[in-house]
Amino acid sequence: MSEIPNDEGFEAFGLDARLLASVRDLEFTVPSPVQRKAIPHIIEGRDVIAQAQTGTGKTAAFGLGGLHRLRGNCGVEMLVITPTRELANQVGEAITSFGKHKGIRSVVVSGGQAYGRQMSAIRSGASVVVGTPGRLLDLLEGGRLARELAPHIVVLDEADEMLDMGFIDDIRAILSHLPSDRQTLLFSATIPEAIRKLSRDFLSDPVTVSVVPENAASTNRNIDERYHVIEESERDEATIRVIESERPEKIIIFCRTKSEVDRLATLLISRGYSAKGLHGDMEQRQRERVIADFHAGHIRVLIATDVAARGLDVRGVSHVLNFHIPMEPESYVHRIGRTGRAGARGVAVTFVTPRELRSLQAIRSQLGNTMSHRLVPTLSEIQTVRGNALLSAIRERSEDEVDANVLLETLFSELGAEQTARRLFSLLLARTRASGPERVGLFGRRLDEFLHRLEHPARPRRSGNFSRRNFRGPRRGGWYRGNASRNMWNNR
Ligand code: AMP
Repeated sequence: MSEIPNDEGFEAFGLDARLLASVRDLEFTVPSPVQRKAIPHIIEGRDVIAQAQTGTGKTAAFGLGGLHRLRGNCGVEMLVITPTRELANQVGEAITSFGKHKGIRSVVVSGGQAYGRQMSAIRSGASVVVGTPGRLLDLLEGGRLARELAPHIVVLDEADEMLDMGFIDDIRAILSHLPSDRQTLLFSATIPEAIRKLSRDFLSDPVTVSVVPENAASTNRNIDERYHVIEESERDEATIRVIESERPEKIIIFCRTKSEVDRLATLLISRGYSAKGLHGDMEQRQRERVIADFHAGHIRVLIATDVAARGLDVRGVSHVLNFHIPMEPESYVHRIGRTGRAGARGVAVTFVTPRELRSLQAIRSQLGNTMSHRLVPTLSEIQTVRGNALLSAIRERSEDEVDANVLLETLFSELGAEQTARRLFSLLLARTRASGPERVGLFGRRLDEFLHRLEHPARPRRSGNFSRRNFRGPRRGGWYRGNASRNMWNNR
């Protein structure tokens, strides 16, 4: 069977009824494009190379397709290799939810946890193992699990991330330990030459499916991408203005270094935001706690390094902020892919200083001109936003505070209703008064110069990219154009 039509539901794949029950539990109504394209080949047993970024529903593509082919109760049948522990945990949870009715058990194996527990979980009847390359290789090479770990399906998830993180040799070593008559599924947002070579060496007659728009590398059309041009010294102030003006439901702020994460987290907490940092120097349990708090909405601002936030799939991330512009276009794509997931809309804001012009040019030449310039909101604008928020808070406030009534009576008798209201309001406004300079970021002539340099790079490049200077990327809504309005994946 090849790709199923746009308006068909999950039933059209002919999936195991117990998996369809899980799909209903999860309230997935229609398959995403990568699911429509990949699942039919997966359930036929073909090797697949799928080019799809995070947020496209790739986990359910290999999860449902793979689980359909498992018999259950006969040892480890499927192995999923992911670049990070966090992603391994998320994939493990997803597999558990897909396999619930089919009685499929899964185990996550990653560094930082005792070998013994993971091995006994595998031996006690797990059908799916999800793990990071280092730990898996340890288990295989140490001979600890060589016999038990003979899956007939192997998934390489976020293969390009594993390449970037230096795991490619580990992956090759792992694959050479596994049975050769297996089915191999490779998922990757980008397909650089090293990944192509890996697939030539380890996949057999693979089908390639892609949900990446043809021209632009791969940013998601659901994300409103903006950048602010600021001075180096203005990053903190600009961050606060972005949070204040956007009032994000949840925001991830990407920093370059662990110490920057700690510093910014301390600053934002001291300013009263519910914020926490996430980076690789933190203990595993501490990191899991932070991610769980962010999931649950106990914290709304997560400040993270790239590595710590890889593969993070948290619902309701309305905003991503690049505190520094990433050097690599791929990293930009991965970072902003934390928002705009599962058909929701997202906003990605990037700070650029005049010295970072080249990084912005690199991103534009690879991904097209998807980011638009915006001025950082001024102090007066922030004050207006705060004033409006105060008005709605007052409108929504219930009046059942007994103490408030008593105090108000006292004030009324002393000052009268109007004076009381005026003074209370002025008190509240003074408390919400924003501070700082009126303007943050470049404006006027310096901004014009920056934008001119951006559009007219000093050294014209000879490569074909230069002619794409004015390439605007596919139109919004033009990527997943579809006909079924109930299909959230088509409403991008
Ligand atoms: P992924 O690309 O696997 O990281 O998935 C992104 C998000 O989309 C996850 O939160 C999934 O639960 C969700 N998702 C996957 N497939 C569907 C679907 N067909 N309908 C709705 N949500 C989905």
